[in-house]
Amino acid sequence: MSEIPYKIYLSENEIPTAWYNVRADMKNKPAPLLNPGTGEPLKAEDLYPIFCEELSKQEMNNDDQWIDIPGEIVDFYKMYRPSPLVRAYCLEKELDTPAHIYYKFEGNNTSGSHKLNSAIAQAYYAKKQGLKGVTTETGAGQWGTALSMATAYFGLDCQVYMVKVSYEQKPFRREVMRTYGATVTPSPSMSTNVGRKINEEFPGTNGSLGCAISEAVEAATSQEGYRYVLGSVLSQVLLHQSVIGLETKAALDKYGIKADTIIGCAGGGSNLGGLISPFVGQMLRGEADYDIIAVEPASCPSLTRGSYVYDFCDTGRVCPLAKMYTLGSNFMPAPNHAGGLRYHGMSSIVSQLYDDKLIRATSVKQTDVFAAAEKFARVEGILPAPESSHAIKVAIDEALKCKETGEAKNIVFGLTGTGYFDLVAYQKYNDGVMDDYIPTDEDIAKSLAQCPKI
Ligand SMILES: *Cc1c(COP(=O)(O)O)cnc(C)c1O
Repeated sequence: MSEIPYKIYLSENEIPTAWYNVRADMKNKPAPLLNPGTGEPLKAEDLYPIFCEELSKQEMNNDDQWIDIPGEIVDFYKMYRPSPLVRAYCLEKELDTPAHIYYKFEGNNTSGSHKLNSAIAQAYYAKKQGLKGVTTETGAGQWGTALSMATAYFGLDCQVYMVKVSYEQKPFRREVMRTYGATVTPSPSMSTNVGRKINEEFPGTNGSLGCAISEAVEAATSQEGYRYVLGSVLSQVLLHQSVIGLETKAALDKYGIKADTIIGCAGGGSNLGGLISPFVGQMLRGEADYDIIAVEPASCPSLTRGSYVYDFCDTGRVCPLAKMYTLGSNFMPAPNHAGGLRYHGMSSIVSQLYDDKLIRATSVKQTDVFAAAEKFARVEGILPAPESSHAIKVAIDEALKCKETGEAKNIVFGLTGTGYFDLVAYQKYNDGVMDDYIPTDEDIAKSLAQCPKI
């Protein structure tokens, strides 16, 4: 076998031309979305007022193993894909571990994260349907940035509701979005009914993804020619993100490397779901086995401390109900939390895989995450996003375990993005004033009590 290079690049014509739909291979399918009014399972048509038609069909598609990627989307992917799979030789040396560490780097585009993989697909289907524009929410700003790049490319209008705390803490991300032509409104705003209601109920609130979603949905359904798009959680987003896993698998296969441990950070579950899909597919078909770890922040631990129940996807309770690991749609993560992993729930696909014990989950504290980020940056050169650094932290922990056991495991993790716009968080860490807020059992029980009884 030839020596493994620092970066395993695929060629342009090895970019996947079909997305892999892991639901087709799942014996226990993710639970269906329910109508929040009637409690009845939704059909694709029921979603058409909110989502683009083609995306609604993808959302409901539990059967097709492969879905062709339209040529226009593949062409856009060519601008920044294939992304490299990096062998972390320098980190291995620093840790003095026998483990081999690889990371799939998705930060090599202007939006700085993997979110562009789905943004371009969603913008494409909106354009194809003849829409004027799309509305969305953004937390830390990566999704809004990715979407504004994608809508600019297809000449669509883009209206972004940005969680208020991020709008204030991350003015630069906001300006990137505006440069690509998006309108950015801090959420909760006073320009939607649901925003006014949330402001009344929680005066001075910092906002949350859940309430920004409610505002964006209202904006989409109250304007002609607009639909709502979402950057995570949904099954269609995991489908688009399967390009991450497909490329990772192709790169590993090229050098005959079999992954042992696969690690991803989990907010709404899209990068993790996309990275692991082809590997989980092998597990489901009985072809291979992997140790897969979802990493979430201790401040927002939906898999490790939440319940697997039907819940609202948004604080305003206007979206369909999804069965997922959730902390309750009223859960407000601590405002001091630096990462963008602040969503109360988890992708229904990832939730089902976790419930079926095909993957495991762990939670990590913010200061430990930044210590790992710093170590990684100093040896590997890349300034990682705080979200991605959750995966780094656990990859380092797993590599250090190998040092004790002497095992030369192949550890693969998703490095979802860069942290240039997260320097307020890095500043807090560098100044030693970052804290580790962890919700109490009582906090979680209180918000879980408000889940619908289904
Ligand atoms: C949004 C984001 C995440 C978390 O979202 P998932 O849907 O769980 O992948 C992780 N890393 C980065 C860089 C992000 O922008």
